[in-house]
Amino acid sequence: MTDRKSELAENLARVEERIASACVAAGRSRQEVTLIVVTKTHPASDVRLLADLGVRHVAENRDQDAAPKAAACADLPLDWHFVGQLQTNKVRSVAGYAHVVQSVDRPKLVTALSAAAEGAGRELGVLVQIALDAESGERGTRGGAAPDLLPELADLVARAPGLRIDGLMTVAPLSGEYAGREQAAFERLVELSSSLRADHPTATMVSAGMSADLEQAVRAGATHVRVGTAVLGARPRLG
Ligand SMILES: *Cc1c(COP(=O)(O)O)cnc(C)c1O
Repeated sequence: MTDRKSELAENLARVEERIASACVAAGRSRQEVTLIVVTKTHPASDVRLLADLGVRHVAENRDQDAAPKAAACADLPLDWHFVGQLQTNKVRSVAGYAHVVQSVDRPKLVTALSAAAEGAGRELGVLVQIALDAESGERGTRGGAAPDLLPELADLVARAPGLRIDGLMTVAPLSGEYAGREQAAFERLVELSSSLRADHPTATMVSAGMSADLEQAVRAGATHVRVGTAVLGARPRLG
């Protein structure tokens, strides 16, 4: 193994151990939680090593970086998740490689993604991103829709050709009533997921938790954790 490959293998083993312990502590089966490795700012060669080490889900947050990386890794058995704020002029590109777009937070984006998915002849999974620090009817500063916008957005996605409503995503808020209360924030997301599933029973994904708070997410009931730095190390630049 190269130095980089053994480093990634060790980091993955440590993260796997954290997820497994969190599942035990929460009385959940390890199979209920899927690891998504956030590869943003890291090169395609790292993605290739991760795939070799058994990673099956990767995430990116900028189309400019993600598109060439996904193209360079098109031969690998990977699902690509898009987790960043998304401008409508990028959706055609994203719809070409993404399997799941986790950051859908406004009607215009749903319409654009639907057209792009249809144009590409692909079906895209969609998560509605929830901003738990957004005022009613508003969007958060780092993307995401206020919880009261969820029913309308989810219905719109469910009716949109080429799209599938798969669930919800959030990032623990830095401000507002949930600041510093990751566990409570993720529990709120899981509550929102229950109400979503009342109308859309197959929308079972709950994407929450990153390197610093994956235990709280697993405890709250997340089905997917998005881990970057704990697997790949510090990012070479802000991302
Ligand atoms: C970067 C990023 C992550 C991973 O963050 P780490 O702290 O590096 O684990 C997770 N989710 C989103 C939306 C991100 O942008």
